[in-house]
Amino acid sequence: KATAMIVIGMAGSGKTTFMQRVNSYLHSRGQPPYVLNLDPAVMHLPFDANIDIRDTVDYPEVMKQYNLGPNGGIMTALNLFTTKFDQVLSHVEKRANDVDYVLLDTPGQIEIFTWSASGSIITDALASALPTVVVYLIDTPRTTAPATFMSNMLYACSILYKTRLPFLVVFNKTDVQDHAFALEWMRDFEAFQEALLERRQTHGEEDGPAYMDSLMNSMSLVLDEFYKHLRAVGVSAMTGDGMDELFDAVQEARQEYEDEYKPQLEKLY
Ligand code: GDP
Ligand code: MG
Repeated sequence: KATAMIVIGMAGSGKTTFMQRVNSYLHSRGQPPYVLNLDPAVMHLPFDANIDIRDTVDYPEVMKQYNLGPNGGIMTALNLFTTKFDQVLSHVEKRANDVDYVLLDTPGQIEIFTWSASGSIITDALASALPTVVVYLIDTPRTTAPATFMSNMLYACSILYKTRLPFLVVFNKTDVQDHAFALEWMRDFEAFQEALLERRQTHGEEDGPAYMDSLMNSMSLVLDEFYKHLRAVGVSAMTGDGMDELFDAVQEARQEYEDEYKPQLEKLY
């Protein structure tokens, strides 16, 4: 049975490019995936989607009709789509035995999916139908500042606890910035604390008041436990680097679904 990968990440982290890369990688391995686009606002989709939210909901029309701005429009479009998600899911389930992977691209702005009722409904419905993994994409070159890194990881943490699904952190854009520093900070909180200190020495108050550092120092201890249970890989959606490691990690995450998520699900229903 197929594994579903829900691709989540901040705007510009590279979700759509990543989808394109994973799609072509799987095609080249002779495992064409089943692909869903849930971003109503995407102009150009660089991959073929089996199900595209834009076929069901006309996003510019939604904005006009309901008098909404861009984010309200995306949110409403997603809500409208979600009212039909049972039909979508039955399409997915029909194909789930023929394909190895189901891929989902999500709207540019992360919170539209992660903190909306629609996002939860889609995630939960999918995860109760087939093994599902959350792929959390990080813009590596933009996360080299310790404070940014920490806020990104806190966000990851909040999504993990909200969905409770097997979770995979993917450091994207390794062609521009190697992700070794991030793995180091996750493995060794003292290395992170040193980087924080160094940053303060070179940037002064530019990053905010100094008391932030003691808060971040403490938080790095708290996150240490979270990091221990986290799978993290580096990829370049642009060049295709890291795809084999990515899929090894996806396999592991799928196993975690079978071992931990599914038994919980069976207790509920
Ligand atoms: P989304 O908003 O998360 O869907 O992000 P996009 O896929 O639209 O990508 C945002 C920008 O990052 C685009 O300009 C991409 O070309 C660029 N990008 C995405 N992945 C990579 C990568 O691996 N390396 C580099 N250098 N750029 C990337
Ligand atoms: Mg996108």
